[in-house]
Amino acid sequence: MKIYNTLTSQKEEFVPQGDTVLMYVCGVTPYDNSHLGHAMSYIYFDVVRRYLKYRGYKVKFVQNVTDIDDKIINRANQIGIPPNELAEKFTQSFFDDITALNVVPADIYPRATQEIPKIIEVIKGLAEKGYAYPSQGSVYFRVRQMTDYGKLSHRTLDMMMAGARIESGEEKEDPRDFVLWKGAKPGEPQWESPWGPGRPGWHIECSAMSLKYLGATLDIHGGGQDLIFPHHENEIAQSESFTGKKPFVKYWMHNAMLQLGTEKMSKSLGNLITIKDALQKFGADALRIFFLSGHYRSPITYTTENVESAGRGAERLQQAATAEAKENAIEGNIVTETYKQRFIDAMDDDFNTAQAIAVLFDLVRDINRTIEGGASAKAGQELLKELSKNLGLTLKSPEKSVEATPFIELLIATRKQLRDAKQFQLADDIRTKLLELGIVLEDTAKGTTWKGK
Ligand SMILES: [Zn+2]
Repeated sequence: MKIYNTLTSQKEEFVPQGDTVLMYVCGVTPYDNSHLGHAMSYIYFDVVRRYLKYRGYKVKFVQNVTDIDDKIINRANQIGIPPNELAEKFTQSFFDDITALNVVPADIYPRATQEIPKIIEVIKGLAEKGYAYPSQGSVYFRVRQMTDYGKLSHRTLDMMMAGARIESGEEKEDPRDFVLWKGAKPGEPQWESPWGPGRPGWHIECSAMSLKYLGATLDIHGGGQDLIFPHHENEIAQSESFTGKKPFVKYWMHNAMLQLGTEKMSKSLGNLITIKDALQKFGADALRIFFLSGHYRSPITYTTENVESAGRGAERLQQAATAEAKENAIEGNIVTETYKQRFIDAMDDDFNTAQAIAVLFDLVRDINRTIEGGASAKAGQELLKELSKNLGLTLKSPEKSVEATPFIELLIATRKQLRDAKQFQLADDIRTKLLELGIVLEDTAKGTTWKGK
């Protein structure tokens, strides 16, 4: 199995340290609802974990929650609620989103505000070794102390100097130095430390948490490409300086950004689509097929048509997985081994999900042909379900819309009363009108069920 490693800029054979793969992905800063760009990253790394397990590895997965940050404080002040209340609200919103996206939860979700002692311990260790220095109540990392700083982002000293700045109120030895501990400002949440009250910087949080929960060396560290510099570069600097062990991470994986038209999807562009809105509109399988139809390292462009087309693909997979052959049909001759091998070959090649999905659609065609030809395609359908699980596909119709549900139930109850009163024409009208709206009623022995939008 090969994984593209950002550190070496090449695909490398995947050899973890032990039989449990230690994996860390940078998590959310809960100050607002997550958008589709976040969903893409959650889904890609969910597929990585699912597939590693399919290939026989155990995986221990940790994802942090940055529940204290400038963005949280600013937003909380705007709304007029305490920062921890805001963070709690949107942490729950994040958990709701990943559940609805069918993302397997992490083993541990450490929160910055709960890990202050470990964070202070790491900063103290860095200061003792000469890698950190206090200045005006804050503590900074001394970048020039680290000779191979810039190795992940492949930036030269000049490139980094050009981008580095000293903000007003900061007193740093070098513009590239970055904050480990932020001295407290009046009215902001703060914790006691050897350097006075304050709160942790963002980068140190990931070093402290990964060390605490996974150890000095991780097998896989993931995140968006926008985190390579400075965030991940700084994580390496902190972790390797503190532990004295290299490498901090064996395989650095970074996903490309979601484009809206041609621009990166970000809040500042005001073109935000929340995960909740997208799920309501398209359903989880459509979103997954949309993202996974590209390669995680290539930028992908969002348009409504692209996701709708993925949704039609999701329906074809759902139908093929559940299609019923005629009674007593004999098993057809789908060569499942070939499909399985093609799927594995694609995924073993740096998680080529685009290729893997193409294999699923080839299998769908084979299943449909087999059933139309009068035979059973059970083995093919079982394999389709097995392989789809690696991509986190539910193979279920999109969730029924919450708002519509009570009205549809009401119409079903009315239809039953009409039928009981032998008003069959009116009862059938209700069914037909609902069908026109995309709602299908099914009468079963246990009563009437419905599916659709
Ligand atoms: Zn991080």
